[in-house]
This record gives sequence, C-alpha cells and structure tokens, in this order.
Amino acid sequence: MAASMVSQAALRGLQLSSSKHLFLDKFKGSRLSSRRWLNLQEYQSKRLMEQSGVAVQRFYVADTASEALEAAKRLNAKEIVLKAQILAGGRGKGVFDSGLKGGVHLTKDPTVVGDLAKKMLGFNLSTKQTPKEGVKVKTVMVAEALDISRETYFAILMDRSCNGPVMVGSPQGGMDIEEVAASTPELIFKEVIDIFEGVREDQALRMASNLGFKGPLERQAADQIKKLYDLFLKVDATQVEVNPLGETPEGQVVCFDAKISFDDNAEFRQKAVFAMDDMSESDPTESEAAKWDLKYIGLDGNIACFVNGAGLAMATCDIIDLHGGKPANFLDLGGGVQERQVYEAFKLLTADPKVSSHFLFILLSFIPTEEQLPSPLPFACCSQRR
Ligand code: ADP
Ligand code: MG
Repeated sequence: MAASMVSQAALRGLQLSSSKHLFLDKFKGSRLSSRRWLNLQEYQSKRLMEQSGVAVQRFYVADTASEALEAAKRLNAKEIVLKAQILAGGRGKGVFDSGLKGGVHLTKDPTVVGDLAKKMLGFNLSTKQTPKEGVKVKTVMVAEALDISRETYFAILMDRSCNGPVMVGSPQGGMDIEEVAASTPELIFKEVIDIFEGVREDQALRMASNLGFKGPLERQAADQIKKLYDLFLKVDATQVEVNPLGETPEGQVVCFDAKISFDDNAEFRQKAVFAMDDMSESDPTESEAAKWDLKYIGLDGNIACFVNGAGLAMATCDIIDLHGGKPANFLDLGGGVQERQVYEAFKLLTADPKVSSHFLFILLSFIPTEEQLPSPLPFACCSQRR
C-alpha cells in the first residue's frame, strides 16, 4: 500500500504540494502517521472498490495465524498473497521485528500461510513510511495472487492549486513511485478533472494510454479509471491511490493495492465509512485531541506549542526551529475555542513526558491564569489582541 506520502511525492514532482504537506515534510519527526484525514486499511478500501465495480482479487481477512491458514485453503487459488495490514505504504520492502523480511508474501503453497502469518501478527512492521520502530500488525489479508506483467501507478486526489480533483498516473508504478517522481518527473502524467463534468471519455483514454495500456487493455483501464472516480465522489475521498494498477498476462487490468483517504468534513454523510475507523494506528494523543476538536500533531521535540490558528501554529514551529529549538507538537486551538477545550489542550500538553517547556502564542483576548491551568508550568508566553 502506498500511503498519501507517495502521491504527495508524485505531486511534489508536479509542484502541486500544499503548505500543509511542506509543513509535515519539514518536521519529519512526527511520531506516528499524523491523522489529517481518515485512512482505511487496504482490505477496507478494497471492499469499497468492489462495491463500485473496481477489479480487485478475491480475499479474506484474518486476525490469527490459524484463520489465515484456513483462509488460504478456502481461497483455493493457484497462488496466494499474504499482506500485512498497516496504514503505511512500502510494505513489500518492509521488515518485521520478528526477523521476517517483506510485508507482502507470495506463495503457491497454502500450508505455509499460517507460519508466515505467525511471523507477522503481533509484530511491528517497519517500512520507509512508518516511524523507525514500525507499526504493530493486527490483521493480515489473504488474497488470490495473479501474475503481474506490468505495474503502473494511478491516483485521484484533491488538489488545491487546481481547485478540484486531479488524476495522477505513471507507467512506472510499483514499489518505488517516490523514486520515479523524483528522478523522472516526465513519467508522471496529470489530468485535471472538471468537478461538474467528471472524467471525460477522452481524458480516461489518454490517461490509460499514458499509463502504457495497449489495445483492448486501454479501454479496460479507462473503465477502471472512471469507476475509481465514481468511488472517489461517492465516498467523499480526498485521495484514491492504486499502486500498482497492474496488467496480467491474461489481459486483465487489476487494482493490486488500495489506499483511500476521506474528507473528515464529510463524516456526517459518510457514517458507514467512518464507522470502519478503528483508530488503532492513531497516536493516542492525536485521538484524544480530535475528541475535543483540537488540531494536534505530535512532533519529536521538547517545546510544547499552544497556539490558535494553523498559520500561527506553523509559524511558531518555524520560529522555535529557527532558534535551534525543537517543537514537541503542532496545536491549533482554532477560533471559537471554549474553556473546556483549552483545559483539555493543556492537559494533553502537560501529560507529554518529553516536554520540558511550553510556548504559548495566542491571538485572543483570553489568556488563562495559572490557577486555570491543570498544573504549574514553565512558560514562554506571547499574546496579542486582535
Ligand atoms: P506496498 O505498496 O505496501 O508495498 P502492495 O500491495 O503494493 O504493497 O504490494 C507490493 C507488491 O507486491 C506489488 O507491487 C506487487 O508486485 C505485489 N503484489 C501485491 N498484490 C499482489 C497480488 N494480488 N498478486 C501478485 N502480486 C501482488
Ligand atoms: Mg503498493
């Protein structure tokens, strides 16, 4: 699975990246993958794809080694692929702390699936996109494997500079798309989608051809592209990424990997999608902050930032960085913040063991007194009335 970082890398190649992306790139020390949008596991994304008529292989999901073995037998496939389910991409080239290499394993022998799953479940998988210590695998996907004769990259994402969705594709898909975007940006193709018109026939066919699909495969790929766009709209996605979108020697175009991110503002009308979020890979502090509607992203430094306004919060992190310090977090209290939220924000920041000092930068008429705070703090405090 390729997480949003991959399409961000592709977008960087296209110089489309937004200030948020740049901010997060700069402070790479973020502890767990930051939750700016809901992300689902590959198997959950693939279920949504299936419902929209997108071509994915048959699969089962397992939480234990014996379930995985059972699933492999039930699939009754010529070849099986066992895939660790974590939100980060780069699993194929990842390493487990059990010693097992690779978060994606192909085998023709279903009886080995149980043993492989045993070395995945409950262990941490580290990839290019996870924190150093990796992410614990709680679920595996057992799917039918197919021969892949060619791997391409395809994504649809919301892009601010185009005021709407954009398709991004490359004939050089697979595991190293970041590398392709960096070293051969001419192999990254883009099509801006008119939100009112949708994906036009000529656009879908041009993208399919740019992806290198030939003959009848071009038509098949164009149909998959249109179905992926229908899904993108239907679920209020901010990103649908398929890497690889592959072709088989038998002439099928198949989505072998899936990554969908969703617009959190659409939660009210995407209840079924948001109900799938198990929060298991979220930073607990970020989850707690989200409960109180606080925009919090954990970083690796020791100076806690308590700021209102995303721009001001970014500038605060920059100022700290510029003067040789390291921010422990990004926190945007937002406008219209209530007393209880301020209290909860302080509770979160003071509970962080790596924090040695706090920096307040508030553009409000309200600054809490020491009695209003959960515990005495060493403070650097700036305030400015609007
Ligand atoms: P990630 O992007 O996290 O590394 P992928 O799902 O893209 O994980 O899998 C990595 C690689 O494994 C793919 O590029 C592809 O070559 C291979 N692969 C994945 N699923 C299948 C499958 N069903 N059949 C055959 N090969 C597969
Ligand atoms: Mg992938």
